[in-house]
Amino acid sequence: MDKIAEAILENGTKLQYVITDNPPKGGMKYTYFSPDKSYVIQFFNDPDTANNPNVKKRIERIIGKYNPTLSEQDGGANGNTKESASYFLKKFCWPTAIVKYPEFGIVCPAYPENFFFDKDSSEFIDLNGKDKKSNWFTSKNRKYLSEKECGNFRSMLQMSISLARSIRRLHQAGLAHSDLSCNNVLIDPSSGDCVVIDIDSLVVPGIFPPEVAGTRGYIAPEVLESMRMSADDENRKTPSTYTDLHAMSVLIYEYLLLRHPLIGPKIYSSESAEEDDFLALGSKATFIENPYDTSNRPKELGVTIKDLGPYLENLFIRAFVDGLHNPSERPTAMEWEKGLVKTWDLLHKCENPNCLAEWFILHDTNKAVCPFCEHSVKKDDIIRLHLKKQLRGKCGQWIDCGVIDVYDNMPLFKWHIFSDVFPDEKADRDLQAYTCKYQGQWILVNYCVKGMTSPSGNLVPARHAVSLSDGAVFRASSEENGFLISVTAGK
Ligand SMILES: [Zn+2]
Repeated sequence: MDKIAEAILENGTKLQYVITDNPPKGGMKYTYFSPDKSYVIQFFNDPDTANNPNVKKRIERIIGKYNPTLSEQDGGANGNTKESASYFLKKFCWPTAIVKYPEFGIVCPAYPENFFFDKDSSEFIDLNGKDKKSNWFTSKNRKYLSEKECGNFRSMLQMSISLARSIRRLHQAGLAHSDLSCNNVLIDPSSGDCVVIDIDSLVVPGIFPPEVAGTRGYIAPEVLESMRMSADDENRKTPSTYTDLHAMSVLIYEYLLLRHPLIGPKIYSSESAEEDDFLALGSKATFIENPYDTSNRPKELGVTIKDLGPYLENLFIRAFVDGLHNPSERPTAMEWEKGLVKTWDLLHKCENPNCLAEWFILHDTNKAVCPFCEHSVKKDDIIRLHLKKQLRGKCGQWIDCGVIDVYDNMPLFKWHIFSDVFPDEKADRDLQAYTCKYQGQWILVNYCVKGMTSPSGNLVPARHAVSLSDGAVFRASSEENGFLISVTAGK
């Protein structure tokens, strides 16, 4: 029989939780739910961890001065606004309080419902109530999932942006997650959401780092390599923002290409499977798409990083070729966020109704083919907006700032209109304009932008449209920092 127990928090508040016989257990902690399942109470498996004053100090800082899910006004991170706090509240499962009785533990919000499988998630396996760890979606297990769970390439890209943004926020504060993996980032491809969990072992500045072993496949090569050194060896590498950057790149690669970037056909040691694995993910790790060393390249790769467009190709090369064994060469989370967002603007809807990916990156208009299903795009449906911003103080001189690939009913936001807006947690996400195909013509409809002008220089008021014909040039807004847009169509 389940029984209700009571936990007492540091501030004296009492919280109820349900004691069950086999509470869910992770590497560090076990979990009890509140009677209404809105929060969980977690205790440490190892009493030494619970009694370690460093652990308590770390968790206090995580809940308080480093907390991006609480505004500064409410005791959270420095400079954190209410808007930013409410944005990141959905992106992290961040601990909210310390339990002092019956023993040391933490209180966390429960994950939102959509991160749990339900009874219709698979016809083949009983997944009901299990959390959505990403390897269900990115490994061969994917075939057991029902179609409603799998999302499409666009939703996988959306989750990649969300993950890069969350990790950028951690790193901006000087924090490192230390154990990013398929188990600690739950994903919901059907909605494009992801949530970072297991926040209590963050690396906090000035506090002894947590003893985290990491997870196979996500541990940075330098950490795995140095695991055989003695604990006090100064060359031993511990989790840091650099190791997070490796793990994050692996996750993004998995989300977008549904395979692991380092696990290929190469045999590194015939001595034992364990030794082979140690080398394959550690000192000898080789990217399966390394352009200079093809020794670990599978025979059939299918879609590659080249198909993801120039921004992501470059980032993956830096992460898995230049930076694989050279941590300081790895792209930062901010660079990932920017590259992913630019790539998002090149999404193109695949017109093949049977295409499982549904969307792809149209980066080369001379080869306008969906890499997932080989379906070609009709020339007439290739419309691109080339954004240009005015050089500061140089009237009439414009520099290229990005390209938008247009599709039917594509929403345009402030960052598509003004060069000083970046789509981060602070951005205004209200619709500004949209593109559509109307009576066979591609048009851009102004929804609420002030100062939009037509190619002939006339004002385009709200609810009016600009025709997107080849060679057209117009101002998205004549207000300060408004982009100049030049259109190419059919090429
Ligand atoms: Zn396709």
